[in-house]
Amino acid sequence: MIIVFVGPPGSGKGTQCKLLAAHLGVTHLSTGELFRIQMESGSELGQVAASFIDRGNLVPDHVTVDIVKESLGEAQFNVGCLLDGFPRSVPQAQALDAILAENNSQVDLVLLLDVDQNVLVDRMLARKRKDDTLNTIQQRFEAYEQWTRPLLEYYQNRGVLVSVDGRGDVDSVFERIRQVVSAVEAANQ
Ligand code: AMP
Repeated sequence: MIIVFVGPPGSGKGTQCKLLAAHLGVTHLSTGELFRIQMESGSELGQVAASFIDRGNLVPDHVTVDIVKESLGEAQFNVGCLLDGFPRSVPQAQALDAILAENNSQVDLVLLLDVDQNVLVDRMLARKRKDDTLNTIQQRFEAYEQWTRPLLEYYQNRGVLVSVDGRGDVDSVFERIRQVVSAVEAANQ
């Protein structure tokens, strides 16, 4: 099963994805993590990514799609994969569709972690990540509205989008996610 995880900045999608990937025994592919690894290594790609990420902007689609293409292998198409923070725009979703179609695969479920924006800003300031200053946080919300919001409609029209209430502690949110995934798994069998 190919699952895409979408959520506004700070919604807890990284934490929930790790739990879900472990629960399902599938690969967790986070473009944010891939970029952070590149930035830490000081590679050319890392420097390009940092120039966008440090301002709260999205890394350009072609750069992002390339890194995903490199990371997706046969195992992910066969066993399944959890995509965390990718796609984040309609063009990225179209590129993903093309990659999956080449491998006789498709997006089975898109989980939207729904959390109120006021809660999110407090959470993000508390986690003290380098790209979590007030300015970059605001810019990331703007990028979310501009690029990621239309993506939700794209997946809604396909009938694969499910919104999950992201309020509450990690375990309660995960329980809601687990139930949605089990229902979709049962329906797909
Ligand atoms: P995340 O860890 O998912 O919050 O991602 C951290 C940052 O990496 C984001 O704020 C973006 O600047 C960048 N990033 C991650 N995934 C993508 C993507 N699919 N497209 C463009 N930029 C991305």
